[in-house]
Amino acid sequence: VRLTVLGCSGSAPGPNAVTSGYLVEAEDFRLVLDLGGGTLAKLQTHTDPFDLGAVLLSHLHLDHCADISGLAEYRRGHPEPPFDPREHRLPVYAPEEAPRRLAAAHAPSAEHRADTDLGDVFDFRLLAHGTVRIGPFEVTAAPVSHPCPAFGFRIGYGGRTLVYSGDTAPCAALVELARDADALLADSAWLSGANPPNLHMSGKEAGQTARQAGVRRLLLTHVQPWIDRSTVLAEAAAAFGGHTELVEQGASYSP
Ligand SMILES: [Zn+2]
Ligand SMILES: [Zn+2]
Repeated sequence: VRLTVLGCSGSAPGPNAVTSGYLVEAEDFRLVLDLGGGTLAKLQTHTDPFDLGAVLLSHLHLDHCADISGLAEYRRGHPEPPFDPREHRLPVYAPEEAPRRLAAAHAPSAEHRADTDLGDVFDFRLLAHGTVRIGPFEVTAAPVSHPCPAFGFRIGYGGRTLVYSGDTAPCAALVELARDADALLADSAWLSGANPPNLHMSGKEAGQTARQAGVRRLLLTHVQPWIDRSTVLAEAAAAFGGHTELVEQGASYSP
């Protein structure tokens, strides 16, 4: 499994730092986890948007799904597509309200919204707690703790396991999902302190989650652009006690 970070700036972009999106590849199959603002540009430095096998959206905050709109335009509007994008619609696994909310974000007016739906190029599939086969991957989705329907993903391939927390506060569901994983890509949005509940993890909480789950490696992501990254790393590493690193936009990892 190869994980490439398209973007990892938490909640909002930073200077030249785009929001959440990850490319996961194995056996020439390409899965995208989240497609926040800016990530479609970064994706094209790695692969053709027509080469995607599926998209998984952890939840519908725009820092995780805004570029769905651009991807629809790209697949619809390309003058020489490698195949008919309306006959081979891209599977998009997402929470329940995704087709309606993403179409509303995409359409410029109520009038357009009445006849513009993203279902011509996307095959929306409802995310639910459970395991599905997506290309060569075994993907388990589990609800996590965020102010809206939000999922974490456990992705298995060839005996290796990558877990992505999505956006979540610390929760038992994430510990269970990440049990004995090779790598946990974890929301570590902020520093420990007086943070609002049920929203994100601090570096320390990401580290505690990694330790409880017994993962081999902790990859920190979604650090907000106004937060000191080195302190997040130090907090997480101290709480975990194992291999811990901050992921970097454009970098690839082999869980
Ligand atoms: Zn987010
Ligand atoms: Zn969120």
